[in-house]
Amino acid sequence: MTARKFPALDAFRLAAAVLVVTIHTSPLGGFAPLADLWLTRVLARVAVPFFLMVSGYFLARGGWRLGAFCRRTALVYLAAAALYLPLNLYAGMGPARWLRALVWDGTFYHLWYFPALLWGVPAARALARLGPRAGLAVAGALYLFGLGGDSWFGLADRLGPLHAAYAAVFRLVEYTRNGLFYAPLFLLLGAAAVGKETRIPPRAAAAGLALGLAAMTAEAFWLHALGAPRHDSMYLFLPLCMVCLFALLLRANGGRLRAARDASLLLYLLHPGCIVAVRGLARAAGLWDLLVANSLGHFAAVLALSALAAAALLRLRPLRRDPHARAWRELDAAALRHNAQVLRQAAGPGCALMAVVKADAYGHGARQVCRILQRAGVRDYAVACLAEGVALRRAGVRGRILVLGWTDPAQAPLLARWRLTQAVAGLEHGRALAAQGVPLQVQLALDTGMHRLGVPAGDRAALAELYALPGLRVTGVFSHLCVSDSLAPADAAYTRRQAESFAAAVAWLRQNGYDPGRVHLLASYGIWNWPGYAFDCVRAGIALYGVRSTAAPTRRTLDLRPVLAVRARVALVRTLAPGESAGYGLAFTAARPTRLAVLAIGYADGIPRCLAENGGHVLLHGVACPLAGRPCMDQLLADVTAVPDAAAGDVVTLIGRDGAAALPAEQVAAQCGTIANELLARLGARLPVLVLKNAENH
Ligand SMILES: *Cc1c(COP(=O)(O)O)cnc(C)c1O
Repeated sequence: MTARKFPALDAFRLAAAVLVVTIHTSPLGGFAPLADLWLTRVLARVAVPFFLMVSGYFLARGGWRLGAFCRRTALVYLAAAALYLPLNLYAGMGPARWLRALVWDGTFYHLWYFPALLWGVPAARALARLGPRAGLAVAGALYLFGLGGDSWFGLADRLGPLHAAYAAVFRLVEYTRNGLFYAPLFLLLGAAAVGKETRIPPRAAAAGLALGLAAMTAEAFWLHALGAPRHDSMYLFLPLCMVCLFALLLRANGGRLRAARDASLLLYLLHPGCIVAVRGLARAAGLWDLLVANSLGHFAAVLALSALAAAALLRLRPLRRDPHARAWRELDAAALRHNAQVLRQAAGPGCALMAVVKADAYGHGARQVCRILQRAGVRDYAVACLAEGVALRRAGVRGRILVLGWTDPAQAPLLARWRLTQAVAGLEHGRALAAQGVPLQVQLALDTGMHRLGVPAGDRAALAELYALPGLRVTGVFSHLCVSDSLAPADAAYTRRQAESFAAAVAWLRQNGYDPGRVHLLASYGIWNWPGYAFDCVRAGIALYGVRSTAAPTRRTLDLRPVLAVRARVALVRTLAPGESAGYGLAFTAARPTRLAVLAIGYADGIPRCLAENGGHVLLHGVACPLAGRPCMDQLLADVTAVPDAAAGDVVTLIGRDGAAALPAEQVAAQCGTIANELLARLGARLPVLVLKNAENH
C-alpha cells in the first residue's frame, strides 16, 4: 500500500476555515487595530488560496475530470445560496440582483468563493492545456491584472489604459478576486505540485514562507498607508507564501482526516449565519457588550456557534456503507480508462469503441464501469438483454445501448421507452418486432458462419425485406466471428471468409441504396488478431477488462491492464493439530500443525467450487496460501500456515494483485477448467463494487 494521504492538508483546512472566520469577525479589532489588520487582512489571506490550491492539486492528480467536481461544487453552492436566501430577502435584495450575484460575486459575502471556483476550474483546465509553464504564465498575468483591481487599485487605476479596463471589469463584477484573475493561478499552482511533492526542501519552504509573509506584511501596510486598496485579498507576495506553505504541508503524511475536510467546509458555510445569530442571541440575552461589542468575545462566540452547528450537521450525515464488507470487487478506474484508450488506438482512427458491458460488465459491476467509461468519452455500449439495458438507463447511462441478444417482440414498447437499440436476430424476429407498431431503432445481426443469431449474410431478399419493414429504423449492421481467437491456418481462413462475406453484404446494401449505419465486426480477439476488419467500431468485452479468455497467443499484444480484484476478509484463524480434519465431508486433514483461515467468501459469490479441488490458492500479505477442504456456499478455508501473523480481519485476494504477487483471472479460470469470461461473468451480485479512483492500492 503506497497510498498518499494528506493529514496536514486536511488539518490545515480547519485552520484556514478559522482564519476566514477571523476575517469576518476581526477578533483583535477592539484592542489592537494594527494587529487585527495584520491578522485579518494579511495572514488570513492565505486561507482561500489554500483551498484553491488543494482543489487544483486533487483535480490534477485525478486527471482533471471536471464534471463530478463542478457538479458537487454547484450543489454545495446552491444549497448554501438557498440557506442564505432569507437573509438576502431581509436585506431587500431583488431577484435580478440575486441572480447576478449568483453568477458572479456570490449571493452572500462569503459565497463569492463558489462562483470563483466554478469559473476558475474550467479556466485553469484550459490554461493547463497550454502546458505547465505557459499556463502558469498566463494565469500569473491575469493575477497581476487582478492585483491592480484589488489591493494595488489606487496605484494601478492611475494608469490610463488600465483605468478603462478596470472600469469595464467593475461594471460586471464587484471584485477582481474571482474566477478569472484570482482562482486560476492558485488552482494551477496546486496542480503544479503533483509529482513534485518533495521538490522544495522543508527548510527552504519554511524560509520562503517566513520571507514571503514578511514581504506581504510590508506590502500590505505600505499600500494601506497609501490608501491604495480597493479590496485586500490579493498581494504580490501572496503566491510565494502559498507555494511555500503548500510545499510544507505536502511533506507531512500519515492518515486521512475526512471529518476535518467536511467540518472546514461547514464552518466556512455556516459562520456568516452564525454572526447574524450571535447578534440576535446577544441582544435577546442582554449580552451585547460581551458577545458583539467585545471583538474577541464576538469571534469566540461566532466560532463556537459555528463549530457546534457544524458538529451537529456532521452527526446528521448518513453513515456510509463500508464497501470493505466481508468480500468485495475492486475496480481500478485508471486501468479501465487506460484500456479504453489503448483499444481506441488499436481500433484505429475513425473507429469507435463499443464497450460490451453485458453480464454486469463481465462481473465487474456494469453501473460503475459505465460511469467511468462515460467520463472517458465512451458513447457506445452493448448488453445482452433488455433488462440489462434498462438497468443502465436507470443508472443514468447515456449514449447508444445495443441489445445484442434476443428480446421478446412484445417488449418493443420497453425498448422504445428506454431508447435501446435492438439487434434483429433473424427475419422472423424483425417481422415480429415491426408488427408491434412501435418505432424502434435496430441493428441487423448478419450470420457469416457462426450460425448463432443473425440473418444469413447472403440472403439479400431478407435484408431488403428488413429494410422495408415499417417502424424499424436500421442504425447498424454487424456480425460476429467465431474462431477469431485461433491463428491456426484453417481457422484463419474461416475468419477471412466470414469477414469477406460480411463486407460483401455491406457493399451490397450500399449499392442498393440501403444505409447500413454503423458497421462492426470485431470483438476482443478480432482486435487482437484481425485489426484490418475494424470498420466503424469495435465491440470490446474481455479485452476492455484487461483479461484474455485463454492463454492462446494473439497476433498483436496490446498494453492492457487487469481492472478487477476480488478480495475477502479473514473471519478467523484457528490451529489444527496433525490428523484433525475440517469442513464438509472432513475433506481436509492436517498433515502437520496447520493454521487454517476461514475466508468470508464462498461459491455463492462466484468463486467456483472446483477451484479448491484443483490446487487453487489465495494471496494473503502477498503470500500464496492454498485453499483447503470443500468450499462452502458462503465461506472458504485456506491453509495460512505460511503466514504466521495471519489474523481475523486480514484481507485475502482471490483475483488480482496483492503487493508484488498476483493471481490473474486467466490463471484462476484455467484452474477451474474454464475461460476467464465465465469465471468473471459468474461473480456474484453479493460482492459490492469498490471503485479505486487512482489505483491507490498498487
Ligand atoms: C459478448 C459479445 C462481444 C464481446 O466479446 P469479447 O470477446 O468479450 O470482446 C462482442 N459481440 C457480441 C455479439 C457478443 O455477444
